Amino acid sequence: MTSIVVPFVNLKLRGQRYSDRLHKALSDTLDAGDFIMGGPVQELESRLAKLCGTKHAISVNSGYDALALSLEAMGIGPGDEVITAVNSFVATAGAIARVGAIPVFCDIAEDYNIDPFQIERHITPRTKAIIPVHLTGQCARMDEINEIACRHGLLCLEDAAQAIGASYKGRPAGSWGIAAAFSLHPLKNFHVLGDGGFVTTNDDGLAERIKLLRNHGLVDRDTCVMYGANSRLDTLQARFALELLDELPVWTGRVREIAQMYRSGLEGVVELPISHDDSYHVYHNFVVRAKDRGRLQAFLFGHGIETKIHYPVLLHRNDAFKNRFKGGQCFSMAEKICSEQLSLPIYPEMDDESIAMLMDTLISFVGNIFNESIK
Ligand SMILES: *Cc1c(COP(=O)(O)O)cnc(C)c1O
Repeated sequence: MTSIVVPFVNLKLRGQRYSDRLHKALSDTLDAGDFIMGGPVQELESRLAKLCGTKHAISVNSGYDALALSLEAMGIGPGDEVITAVNSFVATAGAIARVGAIPVFCDIAEDYNIDPFQIERHITPRTKAIIPVHLTGQCARMDEINEIACRHGLLCLEDAAQAIGASYKGRPAGSWGIAAAFSLHPLKNFHVLGDGGFVTTNDDGLAERIKLLRNHGLVDRDTCVMYGANSRLDTLQARFALELLDELPVWTGRVREIAQMYRSGLEGVVELPISHDDSYHVYHNFVVRAKDRGRLQAFLFGHGIETKIHYPVLLHRNDAFKNRFKGGQCFSMAEKICSEQLSLPIYPEMDDESIAMLMDTLISFVGNIFNESIK
């Protein structure tokens, strides 16, 4: 068995690095006894709103709930159609289906994000919203998408689960749509120690409805004004997040530095991800493309380097969505990218040695292929 030299993520290392602060968050919580909706929840929300440049941030239990509760609060329901990118994580389509609406899948552009030029042909009288996904940590082309949404009277909900701290044309991810959904899952660029998420919005009414929906529809302890869920973020998790939040710019800085190393070391070796000049990419994933992706992944793994594919199955090919989506069957760009893409490890704790070793191994793979082809 190959032993892993360069893991795809290393959350244990992060736990160790911030152990003191995280233990402090736990003991503060035990001392305060404010387990549910304690003060730190609101404190975190106001800091997240500030980070995303919005009036409100409402914490919830997951990125999925952030999407589903936003859709519900936006009045999206049975029979409505919602357009989204065919290459997202399943939660995006799952949340649309959860509120009874129909996911309508759209193809993507070379930058892995929804192709604005292909959105309009999916619009029907039943279309209510568009969910662009800021995949891999780079914003979708929000100005163009908002323009389309505006022209057709549609609402735009950002799936910003992978894009905390990213911006486009100087405006933060999460501040472009009527609302945006973020995840605080441990694998995202910023996270708690379990499940969590939040919604950002400038719309007071929407913020109010999401607050009700996350807490049983209760305006106060005994007055229920709508059906709701229980999707509160624990005070303990909010304290963990507050302890870690100042680290986010440091983490993002390091991840962008690693991306730069990959870019200069792997130019011409594999196809590098597109990063738009007017976009601040936070590299949730560093996704390269290679024609013989399968062999490359196996070769890297043979040298102890772990890589992943985000995501190997396009949404319309999942059993869950078969016959439950619209948007045709032909997603040629997404299919092509799906067969070639490979996510390289990229996380703040990764050291220069691992990065160099990964790049050397990758370069030697390409060299081998070249030697084989001239034999
Ligand atoms: C992670 C993720 C979600 C869901 O977030 P959870 O917190 O795991 O529910 C939704 N959309 C995208 C694009 C994601 O990457």
